[in-house]
Amino acid sequence: MHVPTVKLLIGGEFVESASETWRDVINPATQEVLARVPLATPEEVDAAVAAAKRAFLSWKKTPIGTRARIFLKYQQLIREHMQALAALLTAEQGKTLADAEGDIFRGLEVVEHAAGIGHLQLGEYAENVAGSVDTYTVLQPLGVCAGITPFNFPAMIPLWMFPMAIATGNTFVLKPSEQDPMVTMRLVELALEAGIPPGVLNVVHGAAEVVDALCDHPDIKALSFVGSTRVGTHVYQRASLAGKRVQCMMGAKNHAIVLPDANRAQTLSQLTGAAFGAAGQRCMALSVAILVGEARTWIPELVDKARALQVGPGRDNPDLGPLISCAARERVTGLIAQGVAEGATLELDGRTVSVPGHEQGNFVGPTIFSGVRPQMEIYRQEIFGPVLCLMEADTLEEAIALVNANPNGNGTALFTQSGAAARQFQEEIDVGQVGINVPIPVPVPLFSFTGSRASKLGDLGPYGKQVVLFYTQTKTVTSRWFDDDAGSGRVNTTISL
Ligand code: NAD
Repeated sequence: MHVPTVKLLIGGEFVESASETWRDVINPATQEVLARVPLATPEEVDAAVAAAKRAFLSWKKTPIGTRARIFLKYQQLIREHMQALAALLTAEQGKTLADAEGDIFRGLEVVEHAAGIGHLQLGEYAENVAGSVDTYTVLQPLGVCAGITPFNFPAMIPLWMFPMAIATGNTFVLKPSEQDPMVTMRLVELALEAGIPPGVLNVVHGAAEVVDALCDHPDIKALSFVGSTRVGTHVYQRASLAGKRVQCMMGAKNHAIVLPDANRAQTLSQLTGAAFGAAGQRCMALSVAILVGEARTWIPELVDKARALQVGPGRDNPDLGPLISCAARERVTGLIAQGVAEGATLELDGRTVSVPGHEQGNFVGPTIFSGVRPQMEIYRQEIFGPVLCLMEADTLEEAIALVNANPNGNGTALFTQSGAAARQFQEEIDVGQVGINVPIPVPVPLFSFTGSRASKLGDLGPYGKQVVLFYTQTKTVTSRWFDDDAGSGRVNTTISL
């Protein structure tokens, strides 16, 4: 059977890689090979960067309105192709069609934001900072920027990156996840159709070697990474050492704190969705719930809710689809076995789930442990599967201390009806994204995504106002205009304006 190949995009052309190393893109619900993706050669990485460097010369001078209109057109094209994009995303990534549309939609919001670049990239102006002297700032693009993305949001995360980088006047080299590059490539095709000129957006495929080449490349000025903490830390160090500006959004272990005064029905529904949706493969998945006081009696109801979730191929729109790969399934089931061995109570075991007609799929059903303690491996690792760890605490203070003692600080949520408790939580918790009765508090692009401690390296986050600063260099200009008839022209050797 003919298996299509995933192309590179270099200088506006979709080209077949000359690589001798390829890997399969596999439907995780069926194991069908959907395509083959190359691990690009060093020459191909160089060619992509060179094309971006050439294109920067004219792109940086392209008027704001021209740049903005491309993203207006682009958002329209994404909307028109939403269903086909979602179907492709589900086929290669596994998540449900509804969730795939959500993945695309959250990226589309960033594209809409990029269309407002005229307002976002404004400088500042101060008149008369000294006599007849004015100072103003301009936010200039950096040059060639690069992005490295993970498998779990193959639409949203590439769209966090290249639209804002390009809208601010940079050119871009994208390295999508090699596990599910197809929907990313379709989005890239639509971006060219929207009017992004040749060389402004380039794509190379690959894994560690290609990423290292991007970290080291002297012509890349800034690098955005989203993925695991292990890889992100390596990327941050390597690319920083090569003199680049770097932002790395990384792994997580997101805790919910449930106070006994919370709305019980709402809380249990939200918790179930946030723990098991997308098979737990979200960086903002709630994978730990700390039940405070009487809330610990809610466990049987939570288990019943989780047991009722439907597992199946994403195209049938069940509650959760398969894990991305056989290796991921093995890892997750191995960690569940370890949790049992370490003495946690397995309230619900998803290892035995069966999906008729899809026996080969990488399915794991909702799994719940209670009695989890901080030293257990199921707590220490980001499981990245549909596994919820339940812990207990007597007070809110104790629960907050537990969250803050975990190395990760990506997302968290408090469930309560108490404003005072919510305020204390918001003030004391050391986590980037904080939800109050909101289980997955991913900020809309009016704000920026962030993270604390092991979940983020670099000062500025993706999208929103912060990313405009990330992708630009602030230049200050201090100017004085002489009136021909005024002043003596005397030489001034002191430090003053
Ligand atoms: P990953 O770190 O394995 O891969 C991310 C990217 O790095 C991929 O493009 C991959 O090709 C590349 N890569 C893999 N191994 C490498 C190596 N040794 N050297 C250099 N590059 C390498 O992550 P993943 O499994 O694709 O994605 C899941 C992870 O991403 C989870 O930890 C999740 O929490 C995290 N994530 C974080 C956020 C966030 O915003 N904080 C968002 C989504 C996902």
